[in-house]
Amino acid sequence: MAEPIRKIIIAGGGTAGWMSAAALAAGLPKSVEILLIESEDIGIIGVGEATIPSMRAFNEHVGINEADFIRATEATFKLGIEFVDWGWTGNRYFHGFGDFGALFEGLAPHQIWRRLHAEGDASVLEDYSLPTQLAYANKFFPPNPDPRSPMRDYTYAYHFDASLYARFLRTHCEAKGVKRRNAKITRVNLRGEDGFIDSLTLDDGSVETADFFIDCTGFRGLLIEGALKAGYTDWSDYLPVDGAWAVPCARTEPLTPYTRSIAHEAGWQWRIALQHRTGNGHVFSSRFMDAERARDILLDNLDGEVLKDPMLIRFQTGHRNRFWDKNCICAGLASGFIEPLESTSINFIQIAVIRLLELFPSRACEPALVREYNFRMLESFQQVRDFIILHYRLNRREEPLWRYCADMPIPDDLARKIELYALRGEAVIRQYDHFAEPSWISIYNGQGMLPETYDPLADRVPLERLRALMHERRDIIQKVVARLPDHSDFIAQHCASPNFLKASA
Ligand SMILES: Cc1cc2nc3c(=O)[nH]c(=O)nc-3n(C[C@H](O)[C@H](O)[C@H](O)COP(=O)(O)OP(=O)(O)OC[C@H]3O[C@@H](n4cnc5c(N)ncnc54)[C@H](O)[C@@H]3O)c2cc1C
Repeated sequence: MAEPIRKIIIAGGGTAGWMSAAALAAGLPKSVEILLIESEDIGIIGVGEATIPSMRAFNEHVGINEADFIRATEATFKLGIEFVDWGWTGNRYFHGFGDFGALFEGLAPHQIWRRLHAEGDASVLEDYSLPTQLAYANKFFPPNPDPRSPMRDYTYAYHFDASLYARFLRTHCEAKGVKRRNAKITRVNLRGEDGFIDSLTLDDGSVETADFFIDCTGFRGLLIEGALKAGYTDWSDYLPVDGAWAVPCARTEPLTPYTRSIAHEAGWQWRIALQHRTGNGHVFSSRFMDAERARDILLDNLDGEVLKDPMLIRFQTGHRNRFWDKNCICAGLASGFIEPLESTSINFIQIAVIRLLELFPSRACEPALVREYNFRMLESFQQVRDFIILHYRLNRREEPLWRYCADMPIPDDLARKIELYALRGEAVIRQYDHFAEPSWISIYNGQGMLPETYDPLADRVPLERLRALMHERRDIIQKVVARLPDHSDFIAQHCASPNFLKASA
C-alpha cells in the first residue's frame, strides 16, 4: 500500500507560493500539513498585476469572496487588452474576453463577418464584441449567464497589486491552517538513496522536512534547479525580450477596465489602472536596445506623476525542462517565463497546482503521474508561447526587433495555424491552449490579417439574412453599452478600496 503524503513544504511566498498554499488548503484533507517558508529579506518580485479570466475560477475554488479580494488588492476589472501600434504605427485593436456572437447554423460569427466584408459591408469585427465595446466606453458590469441575455457572451479578469495579493492570500491561508516561517533557505538536502528532497536547512540552523515540495522561489528555482538540476529550455530565439522596467504612477481618469499594451521600437509598454495607482512597465530586448534607453522611453510615456524609482527586472524566456522532478514541482517564475504579454504567468501558477491536485501522488511520486504532469505542463507552455509569438510575428513595423520577429523561424505548428487562418479564417485551438478561438481571431484580425476567403457554408445563407443577423447584434451591443455603468461607478458602488474612496472624494 502506497504511503500518503503527510506534509508539503512550499518554498517561497510570492504570488506563486501563496496561490499554491491556497489551492492545497482548499483541495487536500486537513490532515496534510502545509508549511510555507519565505524570506522577507529577499522579498517578492512585486510585478504581475494583470490576469486572464480563469483567475475567477481559482478564487472561487479556494473560497475567496470577490468584493473582499478586490478591495484588499486595489483591484480593477479587466475586459481584455488594447493593443496600440503593434501591427504598424497607428494600428489599434482590442483582444476582448468574449466572442463575436453565437454560432448560426454551424457558422462562426467571424466567418459571417468575413462574408459581409467581402460584399462591401463597412462594419468591423470589433463591432460584434461586447467586451470590446464596453472597454472602449470605459464601462463595466458582470456578465449575465442566462443564455437568453445579450450579456452572456463575455467574461472578465482582474488587475491587482501583486504585493497586496500575496498579503491577502497569506491571511486567507493562515486562517485555513497553513503554517508560515519567515526564514532564508540556505541548503536543500537530498536523500542519498533516490535523490528526492529530504529537507531544507534554514538560516537559523533549523531543518524542515517534508514528503513533497513546491518550489516557488522565483527565477532562482532554488529546489528545482539549484538542487535537482531540472534544466531550462531557452526560448529567446522565438521571444527575444529579456528585460523590463516597471514603475507605478499616480492614477488618472478614466479608470480603464483593460490593460493597454503599446508597442515601442524594441519592445512594448504595459499600462494597468488600479484603484490606487497605475502600474506601468516597458518590456524590451537587450539585443536591440540598451536598458537606459528603455527606461527613458517608459518615463516619457507615462500619464501620471511617477511614484517610485523605476525597477529593472531581467529574465530569460523559456521553461524548466522538468516541471515535476522527484518529489518537487515548481510553480510561478521557478517554472519558467514566457513574457508578460497577455498576462499568462499567474494562470500557469493556477494550472501547476490544480494539475498537481488532479495527479496527486503518494510519497513514492509514481513516475506515470510525473510523466503525465510534465507532458500537460509542456503542452500548455508551448500553446501559450505560440499565441504570444503570433503577436510579434504579424507585425509590419520597420525597426530591427520587429523585422527580426517578422522573419524569424517559428514553431511548425504555429506556422500551420497561421497558414490556415490566412486561407479561410480557421483559428485552430489545441487541447491545452489557454486561449479560445475568439482570442486568436482578435490578434489575427487586429493586426490586419484578412483571410483570403471564408467558410463556404456562409454562402448557403442569403446575404441579407446574415447582414440582418449581424447588424441586429451590433445594435443590441450598442444599446447594452449605453445603459451599463462606468467602470469607476461600478467599483464605487460594489468594491471600492479606502484609497479609491479617498481619491474620489
Ligand atoms: C516584468 C514582469 C511583468 C509581469 N507581469 C505579469 C502580468 O501582468 N500577469 C501575470 O500573470 N504575470 C506577470 N508576471 C509574472 C508574475 O510576476 C509572477 O508569475 C508572479 O509574481 C509569481 O512570482 P513568484 O511567486 O514565482 O516569484 P517571486 O515573487 O519572486 O517570489 C519568490 C519567493 O521566494 C522567496 N525566496 C527566494 N529565495 C528564497 C530563499 N533562499 N529562502 C526563502 N525564501 C526564498 C522570496 O522571498 C519570495 O517570497 C510578470 C513578470 C515580470 C518579470
